[in-house]
Amino acid sequence: MLLIPCPWCGACNENEFICGGESDRKRPTDPAAVDDKTWTDYLYNSTNHKGMTGEWWWHVHGCGKWFTIRRDTVTHCIESAPGDQT
Ligand SMILES: [Zn+2]
Repeated sequence: MLLIPCPWCGACNENEFICGGESDRKRPTDPAAVDDKTWTDYLYNSTNHKGMTGEWWWHVHGCGKWFTIRRDTVTHCIESAPGDQT
């Protein structure tokens, strides 16, 4: 069981959250200008990086806000990262 550090609520049980995927990927600034492979990769293909990676999390059963953390996908060690938050 993971304790996810919500910037607004503190550490909460992972079952209160939905993972929104990798935060290190950047949306193409002009989707109409990229080829189909680039757009498909952005939408569907995660890198599944082994080790420390950025992730979006939504505190759906808490404050309802989105935020990013850095989590090691091997050890599940979490570093809070004041980054993108909505
Ligand atoms: Zn929260």
